[in-house]
This record gives sequence, structure tokens and C-alpha cells, in this order.
Amino acid sequence: MKRKSSLISHQMSSQRKNIVILAIISLALGVAITSQAALLAEAVQRIFVEKASFSSVVMLLGILLAVMAVRTLLSYGNGKVGLQMAASAKTNMRAVVLQNLTHASMPSTLRGQTGGKVSIALDAVDEADSYFSQYMPRMMEAAIIPILILAVTFIQHANTGFIMLFTAPFIPMFMILVGLKTKNKSEEKYAQLAEFSGTFLDSLQGLVTLKIFGRAHRQQQEIERSSLGYRDATMGILKIAFTNTFMLESIVMLSIGIVALELAIQLLVFKSMTFHTAFLVLLLVPEFYSLLKNTGTAFHSGRTSMGAVRKVEQMLAETSSRSAQTEGEEGEYTSDRNDRMAQPEGSRTAYTEVIPMPPSIELDNVRFRYAPDSFELVAGRISLGPGEHIAIVGKSGSGKTTLLHLIAGLLKPASGAVLVNGSLLSQYDETAWFERVSYITQHPYIFAGTFAENIAIGAGRKVSRAEIEQAAEEAGLAAVAAQLEQGFDTFVGEGGRGLSGGEKQRLALARAFLKRPAIILFDEPTVGLDLHTERVLQRSIATLAKTATMITVAHRLYTIQHADNILFMDNGVLVDSGRHDELLERLPQYAEMVDVQRKGGLA
Ligand code: ADP
Repeated sequence: MKRKSSLISHQMSSQRKNIVILAIISLALGVAITSQAALLAEAVQRIFVEKASFSSVVMLLGILLAVMAVRTLLSYGNGKVGLQMAASAKTNMRAVVLQNLTHASMPSTLRGQTGGKVSIALDAVDEADSYFSQYMPRMMEAAIIPILILAVTFIQHANTGFIMLFTAPFIPMFMILVGLKTKNKSEEKYAQLAEFSGTFLDSLQGLVTLKIFGRAHRQQQEIERSSLGYRDATMGILKIAFTNTFMLESIVMLSIGIVALELAIQLLVFKSMTFHTAFLVLLLVPEFYSLLKNTGTAFHSGRTSMGAVRKVEQMLAETSSRSAQTEGEEGEYTSDRNDRMAQPEGSRTAYTEVIPMPPSIELDNVRFRYAPDSFELVAGRISLGPGEHIAIVGKSGSGKTTLLHLIAGLLKPASGAVLVNGSLLSQYDETAWFERVSYITQHPYIFAGTFAENIAIGAGRKVSRAEIEQAAEEAGLAAVAAQLEQGFDTFVGEGGRGLSGGEKQRLALARAFLKRPAIILFDEPTVGLDLHTERVLQRSIATLAKTATMITVAHRLYTIQHADNILFMDNGVLVDSGRHDELLERLPQYAEMVDVQRKGGLA
């Protein structure tokens, strides 16, 4: 292996104890193998050559049996340690992957196929198994036992030792050649598998849409294409593996043949060695080669594992490098800002304390792009007072949601800054910040679980049933729960009962009632809900917003008119801000928008 993967070497260092145990067991195994051969040769010598009576060799045969049993036990022990290492390595790797996914920034979370990520977290990590359960124990055995056998053979009969020494290097040489070929193949296999999983998951999730648009058949073909691609990649690897086995077997057979021929010549023609020695050597030689051969197979699975582990590493590197990049950019801004504002020492450390209720928010020349040469959001200087209710308005695609995400810290500005209570948002501890924020989107995620559990996740702590029911009541959900078959214990989300759009948003509100946030981000429904639901939503939001700074992506004229400050977005630019009557007066575009809404009857 050219460059050991950092994930693997990290696992190695945490498994030092197991590696030492592997080495000790391998050494004991080597001693058992050579003793077994010596005892067997001795027994055959006594029984067949010296014609000794059975009773005189009973003791010897007994010891032989015991050694065989010990050898089996040691092999089992080695396997067991390998499995243990694999299990803990996989657990650790999955933890790293999960942690990385949960701590990844919002844009990187949204990027890529979910199915692909699942395939990396599950299948690729599973493939790492054979590195620890096969490759490591076999390599340890290969590093210790053949040397022991070689030493014994040299002592017994140097010629054979030389033959072994000469032929053995062909095996690792060959393995390296084949390994180099399989490396690329197994990486290719992972790319194929990730694509296949991704296509499959996407198709399943979008099945209804695909059927409606008559695309189900096309998608079926797509799945077929990517599954065939995966099959070809797997077959490619198998082909190499079989050729590999064939070649290894040939080398081993040839080598043993040469040794046997040499022994026969020495024994029969030159009569220069005893039967005992010849037999012992002939027993040891196949053990030697079979160990090297096993190593070949283990090497192959080690290679496949490495391909999989690289995929995991690549994913980890992608997410972490992206967040490092944005942090770096903000770092520059920090020092700049610190100079200008002459902030006291220590202000660069993360704020882990609770953010005072409700905070003031400032935007300072924020710029943001999703990708180079694409939509750009530009917002100048603007202050939002504590407890204010802000409405972001503008045409669809003008950047309202993007601005909301920037204020929420879900996206990081490319330049400029978002300040909360006068300090950079990025300096706050992420967990502490999100503990104070509730984001009520139009499509809140409903987890597979009971209705009550889905509300309870809002609290971020253990909550009583009474608290959950209280929150549901406040969010106008009590009547909905009463109608469910099993009330609060009804299973909702994936595989459970479906919820309507209005019910989902009220569920998000109930979560917020448990949380009592200092900042509320609200994506107002664009579609008209029934009058009753609309009223309940409005009333609940108003209750929540009494103790919070609330920023709403607003569509209702009512919300806009009552806002303390309206941010008017146009084509990615924060054009103006002010109260309803102010904007009506000085911003014709705003007056036009209000007019359209009035005529549309949305108020
Ligand atoms: P609004 O909320 O006003 O409808 P958005 O903020 O959602 O507008 O989108 C503004 C622009 O940014 C749109 O042109 C949209 O296509 C683009 N956009 C939104 N999300 C992404 C994303 N994740 N990646 C790339 N472009 C995006």
C-alpha cells in the first residue's frame, strides 16, 4: 500500500493493543505449526521407518493431537481479534461519518444524492471490515510465521531454504501488480454503487411524480443502466481476483514441485539426507506457501477495502474543506472588523452563553453566491431591533429565502457579516445559537415516529407528556390530535399517517412553543389555507413572536402591513427597507406589489 489512508491509520493507532495481541498469537501460531510438522515427522519416522510399537508412540501422538488443537485455537483467536478490530473500526468510522454529516454546513448537506451518502455510510464502511478482519491478521501472520518456517528449514536443509527464498518474492511481487489494478477497479465499483443507490432512492422517493409525468418507465431504464454498470464493475474485480488466484496457485505448485524434486534427488540419488529431515521439510514447505497465498487473497480484499475507505475519506474531506474555506474567509473579515470597531480582547472566542432574548440583528454589506457566476445576493447596511417583526418581501426568486438563511446562519456570507447583539454570528457557538432559533418552513420535516415524538424534538431536552400536549394546544393542534386514530401516539412521517400542509406547519409551531425561541424565522405559506387554519396559525405565531425577534418571508398583506420593518428584495438586491407607509410613498415597485396583492385578494 503506497499511502496509508489517514482514516485507517487513525484506527490503527487506537487499536494498538489488539495489534500486539495479533502479533503474539501469530508468533505462537508459528511455533505450533513448526512443532506440529516436527512431531508428525517424528511419529512417521518411528512408526514406518523404525517400526516402533504403537504403545511406544502413543505419548508422541497425544502431544501431536494437543498441538493440533492449540493451533486451531490460535487460528480462531486471530480471527476473533480481527473481527473485534473490524467491529470497533466500523463503529468509529460510522460515528465519524455521522458526525461529519450532522455538523456539515447547510449548502454541503443539500448537495449530492442522499442515496449516495447512504451507500457511503453503510456499504463503504462495511467494506472496510475486511481490512481489519482479513488483511490485518493475515499480514501479521505473513510477517512472522514464514520467517520462522524459513529459519527451521535452513537449519534442517539449507538447499530447500534457498529455493524458498528465491521463489517466495514472486508471490508478493505478483500481488502488488494485481493490487495496483484492483485499486482503480474497486474505486470504480464504489462510484457505480453510489450512483446506483442514488438513482434508486431518488426514483422511489419521486415515484408518484414520475408516474404522473409518465416517466416511470424511463426511470426504470435508468435504474437498469446503473445496475448494469455496477454489475460490470463487480465482474471486473472478480475477473482480476480469479486470475490472481490462478496465477498464485501456479506459482505455489511450481515452487513446491521444485522443492520435492530436490528432496527426492538428495534422498534417493545422493542419499545425503535422512527420511525424517526430508519429510519434515516437505511438511513445512506447503505451510510456508499456503501462508503467502492466503496473504495474497487478504491483500486483494485489503485493496478493495482501501478503495471503499478512500470514498469515505473523500466525502469527509469534501465537507470539512468546504467549511474550512468559509471559515477562512470570515476569519479575514473578523480581524478587519475588530480593527475598525476596536473590540476588546477575547471577543474572538466563541460565545457559548445563552443569547439574550430577543436579539438585535445587523447586516453589514453581506454578499453571497451559491456558485460562481450565478445568482448573487447583495445587502447593504441594515439594523433590525430586538423584538422587531421583520417582513422580507419581493418577487419569487428575488432572494428572500436566501436572505433568511443568511440571517439564520444556515448560509455563510462570502463577504460582509451578520451581527447578532453586536457580535459576529459566526463567533457564536453553533449549538447555542440554534438553541435560540425556530425556523418554521412551509415544509417542515416530519420524522418517522409518533405525533408526540415529532413535537418533542423541538425542545431539545426531555419533556413531559403534559408539556407536549400544552404546546400542541397552543399551536392549535389539539383538535387534530384528537381526530387521529391513536391520538398523540399515532405514527406519522415515513411509513406512518400523512399530514396536511397546514397540520405540518402547526406541528412546526408546536415544536417552537416547546422551544420558546428568541429568534423566529417564518416562511409564510404561499398557498391559501382554510380560514380557520389561517387564523390559528396567525394567532399562534403572534403569541410566540411576543418574546422574539421574528423574520418572516411574507406573502400576506396583513403580515406586511403590520411589520416593524419591511425588507424589499429585487433580483438579489436588498433595495430598500422601512415601514409599510414609508415604502408605499417612496418605492413605486413596492406600491405596485401591494396593489397586485390587493387585487389578487391575498390580503
Ligand atoms: P425567493 O425565496 O425569493 O423565491 P430564493 O432565495 O429561494 O428566492 O432564490 C434566489 C435565487 O437563488 C434563485 O434564482 C434560485 O434559483 C437560487 N437558488 C436558491 N437556492 C439555491 C441553491 N441551493 N443552489 C443554487 N442556487 C439556488
